[in-house]
Amino acid sequence: MSERAASGHQGQVGGVHIKYLLHCRRQLWLYSRGYRPERRSEDVAFGEVVDATTYTRRRDLDLGEAKVDWVTTGAVVHETKSSRSPAPAHAAQVRHYCLLLERRGVTVRGGTVHYPLIRRTVDVPWDSAARSQAEQAEAEAAEVMAAPGPQARLPRGECRKCSYLDYCWGD
Ligand code: SF4
Repeated sequence: MSERAASGHQGQVGGVHIKYLLHCRRQLWLYSRGYRPERRSEDVAFGEVVDATTYTRRRDLDLGEAKVDWVTTGAVVHETKSSRSPAPAHAAQVRHYCLLLERRGVTVRGGTVHYPLIRRTVDVPWDSAARSQAEQAEAEAAEVMAAPGPQARLPRGECRKCSYLDYCWGD
């Protein structure tokens, strides 16, 4: 679970920033400016339990602006999600970690997203197309973060699990 990934300083784009970019740009902006609502109890806590109990031999890798769940031989980036459904944001996060590693001189082979609750894995290829996608996502995230004010809210129905519900909607 990289929900725990470092938030990064302004201008530094981490995995959480990429995840929020794909969900809601307002969420990304609020997060990048240090808004930290009350942790959403069950969802986050449940994810942390899955995270703590599923894999015992892994080694986290701290890249400063991001924490990668673990990297295996041949530089395969692994990311664990407590979600029951694969989402584009998960693969985007892995591609971002691949990009960060590559910039540190690592020859990255690819990534894998693990979904222990549904016993599935999804491979994330790392090639020139994936690199372009990662670079574009990073640039978009930086642009959102640099905006002087928060972006418009998403339609209410898309905010269901967001930890900024109270902030945005006064729930
Ligand atoms: S509550 Fe909705 S509009 Fe507000 S940050 Fe979350 S997803 Fe975006």
